[in-house]
Amino acid sequence: MELKLYDTLTREKRIFTPLDRSNVRMYVCGPTVYDFAHVGNARPVIVFDVLFRLLRHIYGDEHVTYVRNITDVDDKINARAAEEYPALPLNEAIRKVTETTDRQFHEDVAALGCLPPSAEPRATEHITEMRALIERLIKSGNAYVEQDHVLFSVASMPDYGKLARRSLDEMIAGARVEVAPYKRAPMDFVLWKPSKPGEPAWPSPAGIKTPGRPGWHIECSAMSWKHLGETFDIHGGGIDLVFPHHENEIAQSRCAFHTPVMANYWVHNGFLQVEGEKMAKSLGNFVTIRDLLKDWPGEVIRLTMLLTHYRQPLNWTTKALRESQRTLDHWYELTAGVEPTILCADVIGALADDLNTPKAIASLHELRTEAAKGNMGACGSLKASAQLIGLLQQTAVQWAGFRPASLVIDESKVTALITARNAARQAKNFQESDRLRDELAKMGVVVKDTKDGTTWEIAR
Ligand SMILES: [Zn+2]
Repeated sequence: MELKLYDTLTREKRIFTPLDRSNVRMYVCGPTVYDFAHVGNARPVIVFDVLFRLLRHIYGDEHVTYVRNITDVDDKINARAAEEYPALPLNEAIRKVTETTDRQFHEDVAALGCLPPSAEPRATEHITEMRALIERLIKSGNAYVEQDHVLFSVASMPDYGKLARRSLDEMIAGARVEVAPYKRAPMDFVLWKPSKPGEPAWPSPAGIKTPGRPGWHIECSAMSWKHLGETFDIHGGGIDLVFPHHENEIAQSRCAFHTPVMANYWVHNGFLQVEGEKMAKSLGNFVTIRDLLKDWPGEVIRLTMLLTHYRQPLNWTTKALRESQRTLDHWYELTAGVEPTILCADVIGALADDLNTPKAIASLHELRTEAAKGNMGACGSLKASAQLIGLLQQTAVQWAGFRPASLVIDESKVTALITARNAARQAKNFQESDRLRDELAKMGVVVKDTKDGTTWEIAR
């Protein structure tokens, strides 16, 4: 079976050939743990989970290593810790923030049906590797020390900018480059910086006396090196990470190890908008995974995410969530009690073509049509193929048991309101019975009057 992936570095779809079939290696940039993950953060988590599952299908579960890091040292974390726990010493406050956020993140992504990666290294546990890389870069003339900082010298790497395909001048014009007295050139970036009193600090490299902490980019070079080696197969992340983060990871790793590439395939997922607009706290359309999970099962969120090809911009809408809910309701109903059988060749074919999930889902819909006609083969195949992309993981009973938090119904209250409404109807007080019907509707309850009496159901 031939897998093709679009590689951002070469700007083409290429046949995927692993360096070592017995250990296919993928690194994806993970979260900075300081706040609830939002729906934009969920996109790479789900996309690369599908790729992980596909690689495991092709090469065997034990032959794929997927590493997703956790950034637990960052200025945003420090700021959040000081703001949230002003009475605590900063280090303790930071630990509280990172531990809480870390746990929330894992609960959220598990609810989205994502497999745990093979390893989830934390930045603070790889400071030794970061210092070792920095020492190498200074020795090779790619980095320099200035005012207790260590900086990467962009001029020392002739093909810097190859991933972003931008010239130095364009990069300087396009990026909000921090002009700092310790920089020899504007695009030079921080590998290590001194810590202020109270901030997390480790012994510095290169004989610098002041304790310090790493820059952001160096952690991914250090952790991918430690867990996947100097060169590996796939490096993934959101398109917004291409520049400067991935460009700088490449610069660090290639210069430290004198290798022609850091990873053979650079895979990036596209942007996400909410109801046609850029998501931002200031716009009031900031959607966290946690909030979505109150109203929708994780698989509905997952399917909605996969309806758009991973490289395309994704427009996140409630309308799409409703459609996914209906789709999955139907699939669960059809496949209840059915054993998964053979995988559908069209689904596999679509996924192998640069992870074309919309096409794979279209094939699942075709299977559903066949299954609805009573074709049991199609039924088992629908279940097996949907499970390959992390859907139909629950039993039909579990699925039917999900109630959105906004629609958790107090049944005794419903019964009392219906009794009161029936009494009002009998007394021909229609104004009161309509008012009670509206009250029930506000609770998400639809009342049905039949000749056998009144029944009710939950509106979706
Ligand atoms: Zn990274």
